[in-house]
Amino acid sequence: MKKIIIIGGGAGGFFAALRCKEVNPKASVTILEKGLHFLAKVSVSGGGRCNVTHNCHELSKLLQNYPRGAKFLREPLMRFMPADMIAWLQARGITVKAEEDGRMFPDTDDSQTIIDCFMDEAQRLGVKMLLKTAVQRVEPLPAGGFKIHTPLPTPFEADSVIIATGGAPKLSSLEWLQVLGLEVVAPVPSLFTFNLPKNPITELLGVSVPDARVRIVGTKLEQRGALLVTHWGLSGPAILKLSAWGAHDLACQNYSYQVAISWLPAYKEDELRAFLLAQKQDSKKQIGNQSFELPKRLWHFLLEKALISPLWHWHELKNQDLNRLVSLLCYDVYDAQGKTTYKEEFVTSGGVALSEVNPKTMECKKIPNLYFAGEVLDIDGVTGGFNFQSAWATGHLAGAEAAKKLG
Ligand SMILES: Cc1cc2nc3c(=O)[nH]c(=O)nc-3n(C[C@H](O)[C@H](O)[C@H](O)COP(=O)(O)OP(=O)(O)OC[C@H]3O[C@@H](n4cnc5c(N)ncnc54)[C@H](O)[C@@H]3O)c2cc1C
Repeated sequence: MKKIIIIGGGAGGFFAALRCKEVNPKASVTILEKGLHFLAKVSVSGGGRCNVTHNCHELSKLLQNYPRGAKFLREPLMRFMPADMIAWLQARGITVKAEEDGRMFPDTDDSQTIIDCFMDEAQRLGVKMLLKTAVQRVEPLPAGGFKIHTPLPTPFEADSVIIATGGAPKLSSLEWLQVLGLEVVAPVPSLFTFNLPKNPITELLGVSVPDARVRIVGTKLEQRGALLVTHWGLSGPAILKLSAWGAHDLACQNYSYQVAISWLPAYKEDELRAFLLAQKQDSKKQIGNQSFELPKRLWHFLLEKALISPLWHWHELKNQDLNRLVSLLCYDVYDAQGKTTYKEEFVTSGGVALSEVNPKTMECKKIPNLYFAGEVLDIDGVTGGFNFQSAWATGHLAGAEAAKKLG
C-alpha cells in the first residue's frame, strides 16, 4: 500500500490529507502533528469564529490580497476558489455567511464547527492522525521514498510527504528544510498594528474613521480603509493591510518609521482648501462645532494640533491657520516605534521560497514526491480569510497531486 505522510495537522495539512484520501482511497494517509491538538489555529481563528474564507469570486481581485505569493497562488486558487470552499462545507452540512466587509464565517459563529467537520471527515475517510509527533528530519532515500525522523526510535516511512508545518517565527525553525537543500526566505511577522508610544493621539482610544489613507513616509507603501486609534497606537484594516505590504520594509527599519495619515482622502488638497475657505466666508459657527465627516474628538485633537481654538468662529480663521489645518488633514505625520501583533489574526511572511515549488502540483522541484501546503511557503495574505483560503487551496492541490501521482 502506498503511504503518504503529512507533516502538520493544521488547516493546510488537514485539507491535504482529506483530498489525498478522496483522490486515492487506497493510499495510507497519516498526519503527524507535534502539538497536543489538531487544528489549533483554526480553533482560535477569527476570535473563535473562524473567518474561513472571503466573499470574493474573481481570481484577479482575490490575488490582490496576497502581498507575497500572488503570482504563485494563481494556479492553486484557480483550482480551488472561495466558492469551492463554500460548496465543500455546504456539502458537509455547514453553511457560511458573509459579513459586510466580505469576511465569511460559519453560521454557528464557532470555529469548533469547522474542526468537528474536518475531524469527522478524516475519520470517515480513514486518515490516521498522530499527536505529539514532532518531525525532526525528512530523509529522501536514494531509491525513492522517505524516512521521517521523530523522537520515536523507528522512523516513519513514506512514498510521498506533504510538508504543512505552518509559519515559522524564526529562521532557525526552518533549518530542517534548509538541510534538504531548499532555499528559505527569512520569516518576519505580518499583520500587526503600529505602536505610537506616548503620542497624545492615543488618548483618543476607541475613535475610528471609516476611510483614511495611511502611508509609510519615504516609501511607496500606502493603503486606504478604516482606521482605529487604540491606547497603544493605530489599528484597523488600513493599518493591518499596510503592515502586511510593508512587512519586510518595516522589519528592515526595525519598526521605527513615520506614518502619514490623510484623514479625508476623498478630497484632494485643493478641494479641501476651497471647502474650508467657503466655511470661513459663509459660516458663522464655531469651528469646534463642525467636524464634517470626522469624529468630534478627533476634529478637536486636529484643531489643537493645528494651533486653532475650537471656540473660534470660522471668520476669525486667518489664511495661515487654514493652510495649517489643510496640511494636517492631508498629511498628518506620526513617529511609530514598534509593533503589536494583531490578536485576531497574524501570519508570518517568509518560509520555503516559491521558486522551489511547482505551482501546478505543489511538488518540490528538486525532490520528487515532496509537496508543500499552507503558510510554510513564502505566501501570506492580508486579514479577511485570505490566509485560510490559501491554505485550503494549496492543501487541496498538494493532496490531489500527491495521491494521483502514487496511482
Ligand atoms: C490568532 C490567529 C487567528 C487567525 N485567524 C485567521 C482567520 O480568521 N482567517 C484566516 O484566513 N487566517 C487566520 N489566521 C491565519 C491562519 O491561521 C494561518 O494562515 C493558517 O492556519 C495556516 O495554515 P497552515 O496549515 O499552513 O499552518 P498551521 O495552521 O499553523 O498548522 C501547522 C501545524 O503544523 C504543526 N507543526 C509544525 N512543525 C511541526 C513538526 N516539525 N512536526 C509536526 N508538526 C508540526 C503545528 O503544530 C501546527 O499544528 C489566524 C492566525 C492566528 C495566529
